[in-house]
Amino acid sequence: MTTTASPAALAPDYIRSLQPYQPGQPIEELARQINRPPEAILKLASNENPLGMSAAARAAAIAAIEHARLYPDGNGSGLKDALARHWQLDSNQIALGNGSNDLLDLIARCFLTPACAAVYSQYAFAVYALACQCAGARHIVTPALDFGHDLAAMLAAIDADTRVVFIANPNNPTGTFLSAAQLQAFIAKVPPEVLIVLDEAYSEYLDDEQRHDSLAWLPNFPNLLITRTFSKIHGLAGLRVGYAVGNAAIIDLLNRVRQPFNVSSPAQAAACAALADEDFIRQSQRVNRDGMAQLRAGLDQLGVTQMPSSANFITARFDHAAAIHAALQQEGMIVRPLANYGLPDWLRISIGLEHENSRLLTALAKLIN
Ligand SMILES: *Cc1c(COP(=O)(O)O)cnc(C)c1O
Repeated sequence: MTTTASPAALAPDYIRSLQPYQPGQPIEELARQINRPPEAILKLASNENPLGMSAAARAAAIAAIEHARLYPDGNGSGLKDALARHWQLDSNQIALGNGSNDLLDLIARCFLTPACAAVYSQYAFAVYALACQCAGARHIVTPALDFGHDLAAMLAAIDADTRVVFIANPNNPTGTFLSAAQLQAFIAKVPPEVLIVLDEAYSEYLDDEQRHDSLAWLPNFPNLLITRTFSKIHGLAGLRVGYAVGNAAIIDLLNRVRQPFNVSSPAQAAACAALADEDFIRQSQRVNRDGMAQLRAGLDQLGVTQMPSSANFITARFDHAAAIHAALQQEGMIVRPLANYGLPDWLRISIGLEHENSRLLTALAKLIN
């Protein structure tokens, strides 16, 4: 008997059974598909900033391109110093990533093995499951509570093998929010040897009542690691830059495992400028707040059920979500189907500019009635 040995067949089962991350459809792809110019396509699918990026960030990225012959600062000193000043931290408490996705993956590589487990919630951000699986770790998935994290269930699910707990606040794709009080009570009860990863990709969108200073909790909880990104409110998703903040010993491990040049020089330069442009951040918050109200009112009028979102998107229920998604594509609009999250009746709609939200609502009104 002959056996056909192949490297692919000998990859670990947990790698061979990976299902790749499903991103929002790229504009160019739909443009080709429906034979329309890219400018005619409206993408409200990946929670990108509809204003673009700050003019200062753009200028900094373009200036950095001039020197892109050189390797980036592998230490990211300029950006880490800017973040340390901005958040009043020490730069040895900060690790930079090629997007915060890179950091989530680094966390899994540093702390998870096939002998360990990670806890995360049903309907939590898909990257937690992927990072956990890439490390071969056991997944402990707790049922959602009102589509959000059930912190009591997550606490109860932590077992002797658990090394990491992932929490997104606000969560993607549900937009659900956990208050500072809920989170602090949870964090205080997690065993000190278990790393709590608090993913705050959307924290800048919280309103005044929800806003809290989670970074101030770090001195009390050496097992807390907070991740943030420049992809969302800062509008730099295509440049790939995010960061993790936590205990220096944990940050040191992430820095040993990461690639030496994981954040490009244009990304580092743009992020420094973006962090400083508070007018742009405030303007982005206003556009999001107004767009949220506009979309909510429009969807209410159409009788469409929505999840309560604290982020820059609205997750809404449709009787024929897959058909609505396909019909919107034909109209040149991209939203995000959530069947891969186990939410086949829901679509996630990123909040756009006023005329973009109107275009979507007009199309939906025709499709629903
Ligand atoms: C968008 C998002 C991120 C950020 O991803 P980047 O890799 O930084 O672009 C992280 N976590 C959640 C929950 C997100 O929705």
